[in-house]
Amino acid sequence: MSALLSVEGVAAGYGKITALHGVDLQIHAGEIVTLIGANGAGKSTLMMTICGSPQARSGRVVYDGRDITRQPTHLTMRQGIAQSPEGRRIFQRMTVLENLRLGASVVSPEYFDADLARMYDLFPRLKERESQRGGTLSGGEQQMLAIARALMGRPKLLLLDEPSLGLAPLIVRHIFEVIRELNQREGLTVFLVEQNAFHALKLAHRAYVMVNGRITMSGTGQDLLNNDDVRAAYLEGG
Ligand code: ATP
Repeated sequence: MSALLSVEGVAAGYGKITALHGVDLQIHAGEIVTLIGANGAGKSTLMMTICGSPQARSGRVVYDGRDITRQPTHLTMRQGIAQSPEGRRIFQRMTVLENLRLGASVVSPEYFDADLARMYDLFPRLKERESQRGGTLSGGEQQMLAIARALMGRPKLLLLDEPSLGLAPLIVRHIFEVIRELNQREGLTVFLVEQNAFHALKLAHRAYVMVNGRITMSGTGQDLLNNDDVRAAYLEGG
């Protein structure tokens, strides 16, 4: 089976800093793939490089049979990759509804009403807060909005950067349940970057471990959950 997304020998960085040193990673249609790693390992950089900023210095990123390595981010989004970035980065001064409208700007307006209803069904809290400005939402609500905004673009591949960051366990569970449901019900393909390794590995079909900009291990989520090195580095005390 050919991969929906294939990262092949990708190196990337910022100025003199090299954050990724020849990363290889594949995501197949219908999978949830998790990437775990410590602070500064390069996880966010990989996600951003897939989207084209920073651009890969060498290697390639192939999506749905196309080489997207040096393609501008907005084109990649139109082709079906949506990113819910770390720190959420929703538009603080815009309302919930306005944020969702922006997320939908890459697809035909005919889908808007039904997609909006679907988001409110997944995240009823957002419906209650429809006219509230993004910046005044709680952390958990902002995360829900970031995911919903990404989904409004009808992606084939959803990239999620640390959706559990700073959130209470109950909200984390809700968000992970929504991700599982979208994957099972709609076949949405998900690439999840997480420091919350336990939950992320439980959710994942397959997973990768990144250390200092290199992939050091991969396997099924269960394989990595059972692996002694992974347990010692990412799960002990968690
Ligand atoms: P975290 O879990 O803490 O977010 P991460 O695994 O996502 O970490 P990255 O944010 O990708 O790691 O960072 C990888 C390396 O690149 C780090 O050494 C970081 O300091 C560096 N880096 C990230 N963003 C920039 C930037 N805009 N300019 C310069 N260096 C950067």
